[in-house]
Amino acid sequence: QATLKSSGNDPYPDWKAGDPVPYAALCTTFSLVEMTTKRLIILAYCSQFLQQVLRLTPNDLLPTVQLMINKLAADYAGIELGIGESLIMKAIGESTGRSLAVIKTDQHEIGDLGLVAAKSRSNQPTMFKPKALTVRGVHEGLLGIAKVPRGVDITKEKGGPSEAKFIVRFLEGKLRLGLAERTVLVALAQAIVTHEAAVKGKKATPEQMAEGETILKTVYSELPAYEEIVPAILKHGLAKLSTVCKLQPGVPLKPMLAKPTKSITEVLDRFEGKEFTCEYKYDGERAQIHFVASSAVDKFPTSAITMQKDSKGLSAIFSRNSEDLSKKYPDVLGKLDTWIKDDVSSFVLDCETVAWDTVNKKVLPFQQLMTRKRKDVKAEDVKVKVCVFAFDLLFFNGEPCVKKSLRERRDLLHKCFQPVEGEFQFAQFGNTNVLDEIQDLLEDSVKSSCEGLMVKMLDTEESGYEPSKRSRNWLKVKKDYLAGVGDSLDLVVLGAYYGRGKRTSVYGAFLLAAYNPNNEKYETICNIGTGFSEAVLEEFHKALKPMVIDRPKPFYAHSSVPKDQPDVWFEPRLVWEVKTADLTLSPRYQAAADEFEGTTGGGKGVSLRFPRFIKSRDDKKPEQATTTRAVAEMYRKQEAVAKENSGKKGVD
Ligand code: ATP
Repeated sequence: QATLKSSGNDPYPDWKAGDPVPYAALCTTFSLVEMTTKRLIILAYCSQFLQQVLRLTPNDLLPTVQLMINKLAADYAGIELGIGESLIMKAIGESTGRSLAVIKTDQHEIGDLGLVAAKSRSNQPTMFKPKALTVRGVHEGLLGIAKVPRGVDITKEKGGPSEAKFIVRFLEGKLRLGLAERTVLVALAQAIVTHEAAVKGKKATPEQMAEGETILKTVYSELPAYEEIVPAILKHGLAKLSTVCKLQPGVPLKPMLAKPTKSITEVLDRFEGKEFTCEYKYDGERAQIHFVASSAVDKFPTSAITMQKDSKGLSAIFSRNSEDLSKKYPDVLGKLDTWIKDDVSSFVLDCETVAWDTVNKKVLPFQQLMTRKRKDVKAEDVKVKVCVFAFDLLFFNGEPCVKKSLRERRDLLHKCFQPVEGEFQFAQFGNTNVLDEIQDLLEDSVKSSCEGLMVKMLDTEESGYEPSKRSRNWLKVKKDYLAGVGDSLDLVVLGAYYGRGKRTSVYGAFLLAAYNPNNEKYETICNIGTGFSEAVLEEFHKALKPMVIDRPKPFYAHSSVPKDQPDVWFEPRLVWEVKTADLTLSPRYQAAADEFEGTTGGGKGVSLRFPRFIKSRDDKKPEQATTTRAVAEMYRKQEAVAKENSGKKGVD
């Protein structure tokens, strides 16, 4: 644990025990964090600040943590900021008495709305000392804005330049401090352990620190909701947290993800000597289905807030992103009770919803599913029927089962649920480690309109469910890999070029980027103009037009050469899945450029050759795009294979 030198002066002498946490104090911490890239120092700043909150104003711990992680509420609450530039500029103008034209000029010169806000605020003549903002007040103000997204009213938000800067960044949806959510979680654990020891007049030991971190990380992975966890810590202490906060219906956990593999032999190498299973990889939408029967509802007081209620009980469906999809799938929720056998009072299932051909009784391609309406669907109006393919059971009759082995979870699933044709099925699988048999399963899966196989560890503790992890215990083998194409990438649309010829009224090509979570930048990776139908181009033109911005965001890493600039830039919103023939290094793009600095003459990023559009990934947020680290890994792997092949040729 890093320790920080104290300046000796308490920067907030007015912050007394019981006072609301001053927002300026949080902004000072942000400014300190912004000035360093050293993770341990960042951790120490955050932990010290949280200790102060615990000591002086523990009741404000929750909004403080939420502002630190740049989220107003847990993901499933559906409360998000990410307000467009034009609205923010208007709001800065209104709250500082400057004209929109002046703000626009500033933005053109500075290119960072947070700094434009800070400048506007510091230029403002102040007759009276502005009333201090509080963390709770800012949290509530932002929450109000998020709930009524049409207008942004920050006129009431006073405070100094630094506060204006961070409020505006929050509105944009990006604090850009280099402060990862995970770091705040660890800082919180350290602050609590230190505080709990201090209350007893003691100093926390490194072992206590490590144990505290493990407790909080484990609890958070099962119950990713600070709204539940922070009050429980304050009430019961950290040691008891895992007994009071557990996975529960109503709070979606982040799904477990798989690592890509290039061949079946790679799978065999990885799982050598272990029992594993090969499941079909259905091509639909991830769905985490939560249910509590009416007889058991009183055992889950908090879950009632987020779940749909009917005579059978409470139910909800969450996406890969923990977004509430209940209004998209009322037809599924209406039939949950037909899947269960007697004695099932509550469950959380991990599934894939797949479009279903009711005439030929088979799975339909992913594109069919995408034509379904996303909101306010009426069960009787549904045209594209879906079948739910269940592959995991995470919670059953009041108890989490994530720590059980996959074999146990699957046995329970098959014992207590029953397939209903065209509505609910168990994912098909085969337990084999024979190469030819796996090959056959793969071919069968593809014939059944699946993407390939998910190969999973079956026994031992390694086969537990690992929420939010891209785990080595789940491997995906897609049919395309075998053709040597490799995994697809999910990329963010940053810019576009006007079309030519037939395409002049729409955008004809786009500039895409991967995401670098370390510096929170979108780093350009390719231009793409292949794989779009005319109808799709028109649709994207319509969707992207309101997202046009005057100039690239300061958190876009792109070439500065004039001829490389797109005709228009966009807010970072859309995520597209893209395939590529291979990867190369190019000075025109910036993806993972920092990883290759020095080795290739510098300044070159990884870029995609012959990229092709596959589909929109509406279920992914821009921050969940393929990371630049993954891009670098793909490039290195490709180079290693090329080297190996040329070596082999040499031997021949
Ligand atoms: P992609 O879906 O493009 O492969 P991803 O990042 O969304 O990438 P992965 O971990 O790569 O997710 O693949 C797992 C996805 O496959 C799951 O999120 C789920 O939606 C889907 N899936 C289909 N069948 C299964 C299955 N039997 N077990 C687990 N996941 C499955």
